[in-house]
Amino acid sequence: MSIARASDFDGLVAIVTGGASGIGLATAQLLAARGAQVACLDIAPESVQDPLVGVRCDVSDDASVRAAIDAVVGRFGRLDVVINNAGIGAIGDLAANGDDQWHKVYDINVVGMVRVSRAALPHLRKSEAAAIVNTCSIAAWAGLPQRALYSATKGAVYALTLAMAADHVREGIRVNAVAPGTVDTPWVGRLLGQAADPAAEKAALSARQPTGKLVSADEVANAIAYLASPTSGATVGTILAVDGGMYGLRLRPP
Ligand code: NAD
Repeated sequence: MSIARASDFDGLVAIVTGGASGIGLATAQLLAARGAQVACLDIAPESVQDPLVGVRCDVSDDASVRAAIDAVVGRFGRLDVVINNAGIGAIGDLAANGDDQWHKVYDINVVGMVRVSRAALPHLRKSEAAAIVNTCSIAAWAGLPQRALYSATKGAVYALTLAMAADHVREGIRVNAVAPGTVDTPWVGRLLGQAADPAAEKAALSARQPTGKLVSADEVANAIAYLASPTSGATVGTILAVDGGMYGLRLRPP
């Protein structure tokens, strides 16, 4: 039996999209602490600090994605782990968002993962420890009010993850996803900032969680690291909820 070590990513190279903030940054820091060389691909990479490497990349632009992955492979010589995490939100019902907004959010949240994975696949096929982890959301199945567009994109990520897992498992590339609940990141901070009393709103939101608190970015990062690590070698096509009990206790899909 092999024992999971704190250095299970030694010698591996990882990219994390949306790696300059929130869940992506926490994941990048954790993978680096466990031995990986990590590049954070982000539209705003300026704040990324050593030992992480910030690479400018817009996942909605295929040329930008290809250039970023070429830069990472040029620098580190290989690519083993892809964390498809970049995403944006959208609030409102069907009337709130027009076609342009639907195309824009789908393009970033779903096609962005396709672009990054497509460009990474030739490199992943050469790795003995290839893994892709997509950031889904419980919005994929929870029927959240005022989240039609965002939920539809995460539902697509759910299905995309399963399809990618089936297509690439025989090549030795494992594909899985995490489905966070409400995570205490700058994203949620921006949403809470629009409330009349952000602190009271955060307390109320926390109280609605089965655990009584928001999920932390570190908790999601640990789940992503598990799915990305060679130690989870038998886990394929899994959507791992990291949601303080929302899925397990209340919001089971049919
Ligand atoms: P965040 O806003 O803190 O970080 C998102 C990062 O993505 C930012 O650094 C941003 O610059 C980057 N980004 C945005 N558009 C990009 C693009 N086109 N190309 C490259 N990078 C881009 O958000 P977060 O809360 O850490 O969310 C990260 C992921 O987690 C998203 O996919 C989100 O849907 C998902 N998620 C978040 C929550 C939550 O409650 N925070 C819950 C479920 C799922």
